[in-house]
Amino acid sequence: MSGSAPTIESADVVVVGGGTAGLQAALQLAKTGRSVVVLERRAEGRSGARWCNGTSAWQFERAGLEPPKPPELRAHGGAAHMVSPTGRYRFTIVDSPVGDADMRLLVDRLRRDAEIAGVDIRWGVTDVELRRAHGRPTSIRATRGTEAVAISARLFVDAAGYQGVLRNQVPALAATCPDVAAEDLCSAQQLILAIDDEAGARHFLDEHGAVPGDAVIAVGVEGGYSTVNITVEASLDEVSVLTGTIPALGNATGPDLLKATRAAHPWMGRTIFGGGGSIPLRRVYDRFTAPGVALVGDAACQVFPGHGSGIGFGLLAGKVLAEATADADDPGSEAVLWRYQAAYLREFGATLAGYDAIRRMSTQLGPEGVEELFASGVFSAPLVRPGLAQEVGLLGARDTIAAIRALAARPAIARVVVPALAAMGTARAVYRAYPSTPSDRAFAAWRRTAERLLPRQDAG
Ligand SMILES: Cc1cc2nc3c(=O)[nH]c(=O)nc-3n(C[C@H](O)[C@H](O)[C@H](O)COP(=O)(O)OP(=O)(O)OC[C@H]3O[C@@H](n4cnc5c(N)ncnc54)[C@H](O)[C@@H]3O)c2cc1C
Repeated sequence: MSGSAPTIESADVVVVGGGTAGLQAALQLAKTGRSVVVLERRAEGRSGARWCNGTSAWQFERAGLEPPKPPELRAHGGAAHMVSPTGRYRFTIVDSPVGDADMRLLVDRLRRDAEIAGVDIRWGVTDVELRRAHGRPTSIRATRGTEAVAISARLFVDAAGYQGVLRNQVPALAATCPDVAAEDLCSAQQLILAIDDEAGARHFLDEHGAVPGDAVIAVGVEGGYSTVNITVEASLDEVSVLTGTIPALGNATGPDLLKATRAAHPWMGRTIFGGGGSIPLRRVYDRFTAPGVALVGDAACQVFPGHGSGIGFGLLAGKVLAEATADADDPGSEAVLWRYQAAYLREFGATLAGYDAIRRMSTQLGPEGVEELFASGVFSAPLVRPGLAQEVGLLGARDTIAAIRALAARPAIARVVVPALAAMGTARAVYRAYPSTPSDRAFAAWRRTAERLLPRQDAG
């Protein structure tokens, strides 16, 4: 860093983190006429997720983005074959609502669109530090190679992923945004592998009644909340393998599980691309704004906990933030940022909190309980399809009656499953009542209610 004091530049908004959530927030804010700077630690072309992720088209549409198209969109429209922990039970969701997207191309699209909208992106930026006056951040200092960076702004957005970078520097957020507990972190890996032996791949598909382009999703294989998701692509040239587990509960890591999966399927060949990391599974933070600061994406735990999907709910955050701040003279004022937080939580909080209850349910059931859930028929296509689409769905009358009968015959799993399903309904009422304007008293009262009615959240 140079010894002299840096020149202080100015912008309306500084976003820290150039993954999908940060670039989308920057793009949407720029579209409302704000001047926006993005500070990203990694080099250009390396930011955000670098693997393939399952996404839902409705989230892109609501986020003001075109849903992925090929080549950004890879496998889509096939069936999802759900397989029980032992492999004994299974059911199929025809025309799965999940589209597998290449995150490298999505990140690049968002980067390009953000730059066209006037966003100034700085790569290779480290040592980001907020400077505050009267309890509100006024500028940010950072290092870029040998240069010191200093930018004053009215709004600072933390989009730095699940560990955040700004939220820990803001006392007002310290209490509501604790570090994510190890028990709430999913270790995941996703690789695109070459298929070395087409006959081996076909044999695997035949065993599961699947065709190229379908996803074969084994759940509960390494702890109740875990998956091995294998999609042989339509071309039969490549296969996508995704694994996820919670190691803090005594399970192997996602990469360990992927290694074991490759060993069990010798038809899988070399790695073409992919990557891994940790996904926060706790429910979205109760408060993710403070005067001058807003969190988006994994930094706010805006992740669908049912299967650890953070792309869509992170993209939605940038859109809702831009909507909430669009007409404001001061986009960082407490009242304006509260609008973002309240609008987001009223629209999506119940889905995120409801599926947090479902995620905890699968952990509590363990592989044996998940197996029994399959055996009972409760875990079935009508119940799971909305979850794949990252939505809350209602069972029809016939399916509800069948589920009640099946659970009545299995009181041990009913004791775990019924409260989780009930929490999904309760979450709707809880988030509808989220305070619409800033009030410490109303927020504290809402939080007490949420803590009483929804699963308890641990601090890291
Ligand atoms: C293997 C795997 C599979 C997954 N599968 C799915 C899936 O199928 N569907 C789905 O929706 N989600 C999935 N996820 C989750 C999804 O990838 C994340 O939720 C999503 O990438 C979060 O986006 P983000 O922009 O909030 O954070 P990130 O993608 O983590 O981006 C954060 C950015 O901030 C930068 N940064 C960090 N610290 C700093 C700092 N101090 N200064 C400057 N920059 C900084 C990082 O370099 C990074 O570029 C998966 C995750 C993994 C690991």
